[in-house]
Amino acid sequence: MKKVILTGDRPTGRLHIGHYVGSLKRRVQLQNSGEFDHIYIMIADAQALTDNFENPEKVRSNILEVALDYLACGLDPQRVTIFVQSAVPELTEITFYYMNLVTLSRLQRNPTVKAEIQMRGFETSIPVGFLNYPISQAADITAFKATTVPVGEDQLPMIEQTREIVRKFNSIYGEVLTEPDALLPSNSACQRLPGTDGKAKMSKSLGNCIYLADEAEEVRKKVMSMYTDPDHIRVSDPGKLEGNTVFTYLDAFCQEEHFARYLPEYENLAALKAHYQAGGLGDVKVKKFLNRVLEDELEPIRARRLEYAGRIGEVYEMLKKGSETARREAADTLECMKAAMKINYFEDAEFLKDWNARE
Ligand code: ATP
Ligand code: MG
Repeated sequence: MKKVILTGDRPTGRLHIGHYVGSLKRRVQLQNSGEFDHIYIMIADAQALTDNFENPEKVRSNILEVALDYLACGLDPQRVTIFVQSAVPELTEITFYYMNLVTLSRLQRNPTVKAEIQMRGFETSIPVGFLNYPISQAADITAFKATTVPVGEDQLPMIEQTREIVRKFNSIYGEVLTEPDALLPSNSACQRLPGTDGKAKMSKSLGNCIYLADEAEEVRKKVMSMYTDPDHIRVSDPGKLEGNTVFTYLDAFCQEEHFARYLPEYENLAALKAHYQAGGLGDVKVKKFLNRVLEDELEPIRARRLEYAGRIGEVYEMLKKGSETARREAADTLECMKAAMKINYFEDAEFLKDWNARE
């Protein structure tokens, strides 16, 4: 069986370091590993509209921003197909058939959707399209026969929903669809990076992000005002690590070599943590260190982003071409699905024969 990746992001804002550690960085490694037959990266504009339908301008203005973030991180359009969801209308048609295979109560049970409904204040009137987005996501994944979906932890319920749809479709209509697996970051701090405010998830919608495109000075300011341990007031006070965002970010980004380079008095992160817990280590020192660690990673990304922004016409053409490639693949899957469902009347030589053979 071919090994295929499908993953993507909603163009609801520029991408942040949560996306980077949760999914983007892994995508680049997988791209470079050469282990996959095809990698599709989708800019999910139709999905973004499910909760931003009144604000199409926001979605429109972020298509190229997200594409630039991809290229800046090292995704290479020669090796991956980057495309725009709404440019592949087959995905909508696939969604329509999947809607028959999922119950309303199953959708309402999805924990991520539940949390998002609450966050968006949709409790009293949920747009049908929003509630439906896990089904549409199943269409996105299966249209490309994806075997692997590299995502953050919040997406696990979506992958589970997709697997259920695949099993149901295949058991009713025959083995057509591929069941995908989620691929989570192995480092647990990366599975759901918290916001700079200490909230459970860094998210575009919560405004608690460090963006990949942020200038160095902006990043420094955000780091210096980050949430730590509110009871750690004097340097001499013992500090807590649980819920301390600065240390969670260090867990996500820091490597041993960073100590040799920027903080040689400590051997590694464990030693720094031990000192913080014992007391005698101030937040400012740890934050300055974190800022350097982040800069090591972000500086080259920022530079590449600027370079691609200067060639935006090429980026636009790349998206157009990628969308055409994606469309061909989705159309191929849809054709197989319709044949299995026996609704391909005009390609089906048996259709009239069956009519004529009736008793
Ligand atoms: P929105 O608020 O519009 O939903 P978002 O910040 O949640 O935006 P998405 O586009 O929904 O971003 O998510 C894209 C991918 O990035 C998904 O695979 C998701 O799991 C991952 N991701 C998003 N935020 C984080 C995070 N804080 N930590 C780890 N992974 C994340
Ligand atoms: Mg999200």
